[in-house]
Amino acid sequence: MDGCLKLNFSRRELSGILEACLGLKFRANPFDGPGGAGLRGFYVATKALKQPLVCLNTAHRRTAINSAFWHEMGHHLTARLLSPQEESTALSFGSDFDEHLNDPRELAADMLVSLVCYSHSAAKRLFGPLLRKDSAENIHMVVSAGRTHLDSVWGFNFEKQVPATQNLHYLAGTIHFARLRLALLASPTSAVRGQKRIFQ
Ligand SMILES: [Zn+2]
Repeated sequence: MDGCLKLNFSRRELSGILEACLGLKFRANPFDGPGGAGLRGFYVATKALKQPLVCLNTAHRRTAINSAFWHEMGHHLTARLLSPQEESTALSFGSDFDEHLNDPRELAADMLVSLVCYSHSAAKRLFGPLLRKDSAENIHMVVSAGRTHLDSVWGFNFEKQVPATQNLHYLAGTIHFARLRLALLASPTSAVRGQKRIFQ
């Protein structure tokens, strides 16, 4: 499985592990009403709560739930470094990838998603040839590498499993996380700069 991490715990086991190891409360519920369908999850850490809280919307597909989980974990793991605004809640929607590029907290959270999705060896195999051939900006090749990986390692093919109306949305996510991993592979110490350069 190429060293990728997967969620193989029951919800109760995962909740216990997160609380014991990270002092984190974990909730996972379907929010599929008109106000919550687009929500992927959120992270909130305020003085009013005894523990930080991660909540996921389980009304989405497994791949989207997994990426939301690691995104919210990214918020938790970088909270002390990037000093979250007190009393703020980091809501995550599936369509705000571009905005994340200009927000260090959101970008850091997305970096964790990308690193979990693409192990170092997978990133080298998939994206290394693109960097060597100076083809990192060839969107077709980047998407092709990302889709191959999602299908073979994560068992996800958005063309077969997702209604046509949602395909663009999953395509945008595939591009975002593949490009982010490519930028991290190309220059881990200046990934933010690299990510912005590749996107422009
Ligand atoms: Zn976020």
